[in-house]
Amino acid sequence: MSAEEIGRLRAALLGWYDGAKRDLPWRERAGDPYAVWVSEVMLQQTRVDTVLPYYARFLERFPTLRALAEAREDEVMGAWSGLGYYRRARLLHSGVREVVARYGGEVPVDPQARRSLPGVGRYTAGALGSVCFGLEEPIVDGNVARILTRIFGIASPLPERETQKRLWALAEALVVGERPGDFNQSMMELGALVCTVKRPKCDACPARDACVARAEGTSEQLPLIPRKTPPQRAELVAVVATRGERVVMVRGDDALFGGLYGLPMTAVDAPGTGPAPSSGADTPDAVRHNAARLALASAGVSGRLGREPVAPPVSHVLSHRRLTVHVYGATHARLAEAGSGRLLEVDAHGVVRTPDVGIARLTHKVLEAARSAPRSTR
Ligand code: SF4
Repeated sequence: MSAEEIGRLRAALLGWYDGAKRDLPWRERAGDPYAVWVSEVMLQQTRVDTVLPYYARFLERFPTLRALAEAREDEVMGAWSGLGYYRRARLLHSGVREVVARYGGEVPVDPQARRSLPGVGRYTAGALGSVCFGLEEPIVDGNVARILTRIFGIASPLPERETQKRLWALAEALVVGERPGDFNQSMMELGALVCTVKRPKCDACPARDACVARAEGTSEQLPLIPRKTPPQRAELVAVVATRGERVVMVRGDDALFGGLYGLPMTAVDAPGTGPAPSSGADTPDAVRHNAARLALASAGVSGRLGREPVAPPVSHVLSHRRLTVHVYGATHARLAEAGSGRLLEVDAHGVVRTPDVGIARLTHKVLEAARSAPRSTR
């Protein structure tokens, strides 16, 4: 594409953006790198409609970068609770803490310094640089990659290194000129509203005259994304261990649920989860019951564990795993002093009443299943 054609494409996209852009709360705060940073992190893998209420509550709770930096991790996870992909929240928290520690609480203008912050990759750095500082920094996310592969007719597999290099080079060339922040946002907006994954609205697209895929009728075939391997199946047991109105929760310390509270839980095939030596049985039921026993013991919880599940199995899909969770109940729960468990109050809908505690969505689902099942544990 010649410089003149690039100029025409930029102008068409900017003109379209001025008339079509949605009123989104982070756009009103384009000069505030903290507010834009929060929005960019929340929008990774999450739809705008889902993000909106979380964004409002999060910024009300932590109105400034310093307020977030000074918050405890439990508070941050509590405010993020339900939005999923909790690693994002932990990285955002570490990132703002580093901005306070190293840059006096101001997000650095220097691109290299920005990109060295925890959780800030090339995309987030580019969004902050272009939207907040007016710098000609490119961005390539799923939306932008889709648009670029279509406009330029790029038919090589999207994850390949060479494809990625080419997309970044194109984004770098296109962002140069007036209003780089608005230009990047016009691409994101086009991907959300017009150049959608399925049935792109090519006739209403400001880039239609330049678009190779439209001319060749290949819009819906691009970008080329190799089939994903299906998520692995895993079988778990969770125990709703109660004492009166309270339920035992343990703080996760693994990569998946680290910093969040959840029910005592373990994989059915974890070491040591075979049937108890005294059980004399090797049935799936006996193996699961013994896994439930082990989940309680490893959380430092004692109590009266029921023999049968208290609810039908709960299905839950994570990005790379498809979980089936067998739900057991235990009453008269007691916590060992050295354990990581806490007794938290849970209301009739399975919602934890304790503020400032992040609860994984899977735990909400299991509590709700136990509550709705005919044979409740409580
Ligand atoms: S013309 Fe169609 S395929 Fe090309 S950028 Fe526009 S919406 Fe996407």
